[in-house]
Amino acid sequence: MELKRIKELIGQDKLVKFYQCPAWRKLRRQALIRDNNECQNCKRIGRYRAADHVHHLKEVKEYPEYALTFDNLESLCRRCHNDVHDRLAEVNQPKFINEERW
Ligand SMILES: [Zn+2]
Ligand SMILES: [Zn+2]
Repeated sequence: MELKRIKELIGQDKLVKFYQCPAWRKLRRQALIRDNNECQNCKRIGRYRAADHVHHLKEVKEYPEYALTFDNLESLCRRCHNDVHDRLAEVNQPKFINEERW
């Protein structure tokens, strides 16, 4: 998916389409493999939890140019992912948690 298209989707509030695209699906899978399906946040505090979410360190809405950058991704468990977005929600809208779940 091209940057121009991602920006369009952000403008239309249809980022869910980005999370459904094959390029993202593939990159997401690779990130989980890289992280051994482990939540990287839990890992940092010596706890093991399976990751089922892949989070953008630089949020897609703010930095669409990093939407498909491998190093911008981090595998997280659902709980940590929600926590991260709750913190971000204080300044941003929380609404794309569910989209990123895909
Ligand atoms: Zn976690
Ligand atoms: Zn996220």
